[in-house]
Amino acid sequence: MQLIDGKKIAQERQDAVTKAVQKLATPPHLVVVLVGEDSASVVYTRNKHATCEKVGMKSTLLKLPATISEDDLLSKIHDLNQERDVHGILIQLPLPKHISADRIMDAIDPHKDVDGFHPENVGLLHLGQPRFVPCTPKGVMTLLDSIDYDCAGKNAVVIGRSNIVGKPMAELLLQRNATVTICHSKTKDITTITRTADILVAAAGKPHLVTADWVKPGACVIDVGIHRMPDGKLTGDVDFDSVSKIAGWITPVPGGVGPMTIATLLENTLQAAEGAI
Ligand code: NAD
Repeated sequence: MQLIDGKKIAQERQDAVTKAVQKLATPPHLVVVLVGEDSASVVYTRNKHATCEKVGMKSTLLKLPATISEDDLLSKIHDLNQERDVHGILIQLPLPKHISADRIMDAIDPHKDVDGFHPENVGLLHLGQPRFVPCTPKGVMTLLDSIDYDCAGKNAVVIGRSNIVGKPMAELLLQRNATVTICHSKTKDITTITRTADILVAAAGKPHLVTADWVKPGACVIDVGIHRMPDGKLTGDVDFDSVSKIAGWITPVPGGVGPMTIATLLENTLQAAEGAI
């Protein structure tokens, strides 16, 4: 079994971004919008902000109250769209219930949509003409590339069908000529399907859902899940102890997909700035 070290690969990508930023006349500027004080979102936005600064980017963390109206938030986004100095806009999800995330995503200038959630960017990805690709699945592809994994002709199974992970993940694997199956909460006899997977991506949001009996020996297992357990430790959707005994490759949690998501956000922000300058 080979461990895929996301922390190390993310650091390498971060170093490459740092070098590219140094060559630009104007540093890329990312604005992260945090609405409310959801505790996980506070931590995520703080990490994104700090990592941007570490690579020499300009980062603004715009904190807005949970009570902000949808119209006021839309007007903030319109302002950010107009600001020439702002290259990337990221709205931290989830948003408070009275605000439509779809309407907000739709309002972001698609050329500043570094998360790749705007319908135009979603459409381009699914047409095979990607502009901004959602950070987590793009980061997973970087991990597969880091082990020179050739997806062509392989069976890939993605567990989860969300717009931010499962669906774009399946699309990216399809574009690499894998034969892709998406499983979800209504899938029947799921282990029969997952056991056919040469590449198994777990993004169900259920701690330790994937145990060794779900996995084909030698498979490449990518764990997207991230959960804080009652003892404070982080864990994934994959039962690492049992699955690592039969997998060919596996990503740990923490230190697998998580760091890649932030590294990819930096890459997308750099791409936005290079397109704008
Ligand atoms: P989500 O809740 O939007 O989607 C979960 C999907 O899993 C759904 O499509 C659902 O049908 C499916 N599912 C749920 N239970 C299932 C089951 N028992 N069997 C099969 N399918 C099942 O979640 P999401 O936003 O896609 O995130 C998934 C996980 O990935 C979460 O743990 C989240 O915290 C994590 N995540 C990690 C990163 C990262 O950077 N590592 C980024 C985004 C999300």
